[in-house]
Amino acid sequence: MSEIIRRDPRAEWIARNRLHPLHAAMQLQVHSWMGPNGLVRKNPHGLGFIGPAGLKRIDRSGAQQGGNAKRSAATEVPLPLHQVMQPAFYINVVPDMVGGRLSSHDRDLLGLARQLAGADGAVLAVVFGEHKERAFATAGVDRLLVLEGNEFSGYAPEQRVQGLRAVDNQFGPRHWLLPDSRNGGGELGRRFAAALGERPATRVWQVKDSQCVGRAGAGLQDLARPVSRLILAAAECAEPVSETRHEALPVELSTSVARSLARIEDLGAVAVDPAAIPMAEAEFIVSGGNGVRDWPLFHQAAAALGATEGASRVAVDDGFMARERQVGASGIWVTARVYVAVGISGAIQHLQGIGACDKVVAINLDPGCDMIKRADLSVIGDSTQILQALIAAITAYRQAAKRDAA
Ligand SMILES: Cc1cc2nc3c(=O)[nH]c(=O)nc-3n(C[C@H](O)[C@H](O)[C@H](O)COP(=O)(O)OP(=O)(O)OC[C@H]3O[C@@H](n4cnc5c(N)ncnc54)[C@H](O)[C@@H]3O)c2cc1C
Repeated sequence: MSEIIRRDPRAEWIARNRLHPLHAAMQLQVHSWMGPNGLVRKNPHGLGFIGPAGLKRIDRSGAQQGGNAKRSAATEVPLPLHQVMQPAFYINVVPDMVGGRLSSHDRDLLGLARQLAGADGAVLAVVFGEHKERAFATAGVDRLLVLEGNEFSGYAPEQRVQGLRAVDNQFGPRHWLLPDSRNGGGELGRRFAAALGERPATRVWQVKDSQCVGRAGAGLQDLARPVSRLILAAAECAEPVSETRHEALPVELSTSVARSLARIEDLGAVAVDPAAIPMAEAEFIVSGGNGVRDWPLFHQAAAALGATEGASRVAVDDGFMARERQVGASGIWVTARVYVAVGISGAIQHLQGIGACDKVVAINLDPGCDMIKRADLSVIGDSTQILQALIAAITAYRQAAKRDAA
């Protein structure tokens, strides 16, 4: 596993970009290395140098490209810290925090908030209940307000609106940003707008030149309007923060939050059949490809994990999976938080379909295949053996949990 070269697209981009503040730190220090045929190779350019024409020469040895990723992954280069001592104003963001963590949609929103905050404003993230996120600082959060209490947990939009109103009274933010999503942000944003008596800008995908542009007319038209105080933004509305670190200083509410009328009773989550979840909405997908040798075992593993099943085009063409399960450019583009690819090589058409997935796990025999390069975690080996071991591990885990509960 440790010999697999992992690519870090961000580190590679910084290594190529001479103007980036971390460029120098990303340069490889070694000047010679063992080549694939056993000969010691020397890099005459070293750290690069300014040529006679005053231009920096580009190191084409590969060290600044994929090969450098190993070093950059091992060496933590601290990002420059952006501090806002006395915020001139606040931009408030209410992330969805699906599963207690910032989603990619939340990060896009924080990127947009940073743009609106500029140098003098502070981005204040308002989070309800417990969370597991540790990367608020690198996601662009200057101030963090956690509203704790059972009354905010589960499905409690009315109580959350009360919480947001209290935050609004205390901080008087210049803008409120919520994700226009089905994970709670879209509904909460509209309820909050109604409570404030303000018209929100919805499905916003761009904020530029004091105008915000959102989708309208059943998604067929763009609607441009002056930037409103309350913005419900779509995914990819802005680039997530990637070049600065922020303080994420905890702040508190000085007043207590009013209780809403108990008009909604949350009866808890309902267990659903993972196979019934539309692929595009599934949070956890196990996908099978041409490297799956035992399909009943694959189905058994997906059921044990409680995952939605997906497939590569080859698996679909060969008749092992239904056409609506195909992931990729000519299938479905998925946005799962975890995507497990079993015996899938990682053809470009397949990778396009999983571009928005947060974490990819690859199970494959070939350590050099493109899916392994894309993956956050790789298991090299025969799919049948690994799926069997996985089912055994899940069964043992469940039995231990049952024993502990008894
Ligand atoms: C216009 C066009 C559109 C396309 N659209 C899509 C699309 O939407 N989705 C899509 O998926 N493809 C699409 N394709 C096809 C795509 O190019 C690939 O052919 C396909 O994705 C390959 O599927 P695969 O990875 O399952 O199979 P393969 O490429 O055959 O890969 C099988 C993998 O399994 C591994 N393996 C083999 N045996 C084992 C084992 N015992 N245990 C573990 N691993 C093993 C191998 O190392 C290999 O990496 C499209 C192609 C075209 C031309």
